[in-house]
Amino acid sequence: MSARAGIVVTGTEVLTGRVQDLNGPWLADRLLELGVELAHITMCGDRPGDIEAQLRFLAAEGVDLIITSGGLGPTADDMTVETVARFSGRKLVLDNRLEEMIGNIVTRLMARFPDVDPEAVRAANRKQALIPEGADVIDPVGTAPGVVVPGRDGTPTVIVLPGPPRELQPMWPIALQTAAVQEAIAGRTVYRQEMVRMFGVPESALADTLRDAERDITGFDRLEITTCLRRGELEIVTRYEPEAAQVYTGLMTLLRERHAGAVFSEDGSRVDEQVARLLTGRRIATAESCTGGLLAARLTDLAGSSAYVAGAVVAYANDAKSELLGVDPALIETYGAVSEPVAEAMAAGALNRFGADTAIAITGIAGPGGGTAEKPVGTVCFSLILAEGTTVTRSMRMPGDRADVRERSTTVAMHLLRRALS
Ligand code: ATP
Ligand code: MG
Repeated sequence: MSARAGIVVTGTEVLTGRVQDLNGPWLADRLLELGVELAHITMCGDRPGDIEAQLRFLAAEGVDLIITSGGLGPTADDMTVETVARFSGRKLVLDNRLEEMIGNIVTRLMARFPDVDPEAVRAANRKQALIPEGADVIDPVGTAPGVVVPGRDGTPTVIVLPGPPRELQPMWPIALQTAAVQEAIAGRTVYRQEMVRMFGVPESALADTLRDAERDITGFDRLEITTCLRRGELEIVTRYEPEAAQVYTGLMTLLRERHAGAVFSEDGSRVDEQVARLLTGRRIATAESCTGGLLAARLTDLAGSSAYVAGAVVAYANDAKSELLGVDPALIETYGAVSEPVAEAMAAGALNRFGADTAIAITGIAGPGGGTAEKPVGTVCFSLILAEGTTVTRSMRMPGDRADVRERSTTVAMHLLRRALS
């Protein structure tokens, strides 16, 4: 047995991308925590016919629960409740308690607009007190109430929630408590979910390892593995039922064996959190060209860190590198501004200038112009200096466009810090 759900996100502003959908991902997380399998998130505008088509599609797929977001307002284009009522074969009935409650909310809101006829507004809002017969009401957080329509005769249970995330989110746990929803998700399975992060391994190498794992680890098909490449890091999310814990242990043993230096997080922690911890009690300075201060911004964002970012220099022009960081112009002349010796001199300059004990420099070509045959766009040099005597210098070629090169470069710098400090 298991429980499956679908989410219908409605709203023309969301469909067209003017407003980014926050409700689908948020509800997806809640379902995952509950152990309810999410089959689909669908999206459509405010047209009732389209909303109904999505409901029918999900019902035909056999989901136990549908959650809708949006379209509960007082205006004519907000028609979700009506549509769900029709879909579930239920009449709309006026809920007197709800009508009074909405009336009071509206009267309070209207006190600020003395020119608006409160009776007209109240009439428009009466529509929001119409609910499908037999549905549970979820009291409004804003002005729009939600409803839970119990499933019957093969139609799934539907939770109807308003679009604004700050209204939808507090209403969700209340919807969850209704008998209809509890019954719909009774077959849920409690999954475990683990996340591993790796750096410095191509996706193809990981794919190789996973193929071998499939061959060698008994019960491997009990693990549901998703891998995702983000900012040059590989994220591996594994979901499994608690009884398959041994299989996961087997997978982790293999990953550690094959990619010893690359696995940097087995508990889901991010490199930023790890660097924050490692920097505790230190004083860091940065010197950047192609990343334009992004590394400094990322370091100053480290939550809960007592690390002290002493200072940051962004130096594009050669003059700036010399004047602000003390880079010898002859060095730039000889090796070029994007070179390991210059990266090292920039890091040394930042260390001195800010009296830091940790310094990191990035100099590179993020593009779109500025590349040469010898140093194409994406060439980036890094240097890290610890006052106690460590210097690490590296050059890399980063793929992608300007934004990719800049973002990846800051990630590489974070990993250089992590490795040097751990
Ligand atoms: P209201 O009473 O506020 O009209 P409603 O349920 O009718 O509630 P919508 O009209 O669909 O909600 O959306 C109102 C606003 O809420 C949107 O303009 C948008 O700013 C925000 N919103 C709606 N849906 C989403 C979503 N999926 N993700 C993020 N924001 C959303
Ligand atoms: Mg609306």
